[in-house]
Amino acid sequence: MSYVSGYTCTLCEKEYTKDQGPMTTCPICGDLGILDVNYDYKSIAKVLTRDALRENEERSIWRYAPLLPVESTHLIKTLKVGGTPLYPSQNLAHHIGIDTLHIKDDGVNPTASLKDRASVIAVVRAMEEGKDTIACSSTGNAASSLAGNAAHMGLKTVIFVPKRAPKGKLTQLLVYGAKVVSVDGDYRSTFELSKAAIEHYGWYNRNAAINPYLVEGKKTVALEIAEQLSFDVPDWVVVSVGDGCTIAGVYKGFYDLLSIGLIEKMPRLLGVQAEGCAPFYHAFKDNKALEATEENTLADSIAVGIPRNPVKGIQAVAASGGTYVTVTDQEILASIALLGKTEGIFGEPAGVAGVAGLKKALEEGIIHKKDKVTVIVTGNGLKDVEHGMEAVGEPMRLKPDIQSFIKIMNEAEGITNG
Ligand SMILES: *Cc1c(COP(=O)(O)O)cnc(C)c1O
Ligand SMILES: [Zn+2]
Repeated sequence: MSYVSGYTCTLCEKEYTKDQGPMTTCPICGDLGILDVNYDYKSIAKVLTRDALRENEERSIWRYAPLLPVESTHLIKTLKVGGTPLYPSQNLAHHIGIDTLHIKDDGVNPTASLKDRASVIAVVRAMEEGKDTIACSSTGNAASSLAGNAAHMGLKTVIFVPKRAPKGKLTQLLVYGAKVVSVDGDYRSTFELSKAAIEHYGWYNRNAAINPYLVEGKKTVALEIAEQLSFDVPDWVVVSVGDGCTIAGVYKGFYDLLSIGLIEKMPRLLGVQAEGCAPFYHAFKDNKALEATEENTLADSIAVGIPRNPVKGIQAVAASGGTYVTVTDQEILASIALLGKTEGIFGEPAGVAGVAGLKKALEEGIIHKKDKVTVIVTGNGLKDVEHGMEAVGEPMRLKPDIQSFIKIMNEAEGITNG
């Protein structure tokens, strides 16, 4: 049984009851009227208790089914999304000068990014609504994730990707059997084309901001972080921001837990954007409406010049008492190497932007040494090996000869002692 009680428009704030059917956007505001899903928290608080969770052996996101906008039994058979590890940092924390740091590695999801949390909801909702084809436009992970999750459930996918999608993600799409349309244009024109096609064919729409159920999936990352910390939430949660759906989801997850009495406070949210594409950062800092910007960063998953979820992405950070920072591409690349060598976690550029942002926030005095912090690694580095290589350089090269090897070892500082 779904505990959804209705919807609120994030723009005009009008409320709708759930009897008005599965809605996507506010009928009054149109596309910009992105909805927020409301729940019957009173009833959920009775079933989603600490005891119930302790006895629940389900490790995927369906563990939190009462807080999710789905009704059905298909959900059991989906790919196993969520249940990703939260590591207490052993080395990175020391390296950047912070006492308590946890790393949520969402790169170990079935298709290797946090997007699986949204896609699995899209797939179940599409089945509940009787659709057999799902479409989306994406810079990469939303699409590859949708394709994998849909394939597992026997659904078809049509994916519109902008030209610059990294090869790893494109390969995933093709391997999962999606119909892939590579659009000769930027994210915006790709999005508009997908929208027109979805309307024309009546497919299920997985475009994250427009579809209010997807943020609900993304929020499970926050539910897990809280539970993994025994409901003693950190002072800060750090995450990279493109469209704004992930950070909105993180906020919603903690808000849900606060509403059902499982946690006592909200963490502050630090949104991290790339310096060359930072519409949220600028809007937040100057307290003005979000303006379209260039998409000038190698972190493709957050290269979103016209974010689709402007209201939720700003509100989440403001309501949490958090803020936004930007990081350069060089800082992002350095964080790939730093996270890899200090913790054994390989993230894609947008995946480690949070780590770079945390470093920046410490330097700028936004986050302090004694603050308890959780940083979310949102995507796996194997999706984008080219930028991984750019971050760490080439291997040592030599002839198959022990004398050359010893020579190189002597030259390579640190290696001989290590
Ligand atoms: C999509 C994505 C993000 C940002 O999420 P938004 O909802 O677009 O803000 C960050 N990192 C990775 C790896 C992603 O795929
Ligand atoms: Zn509205």
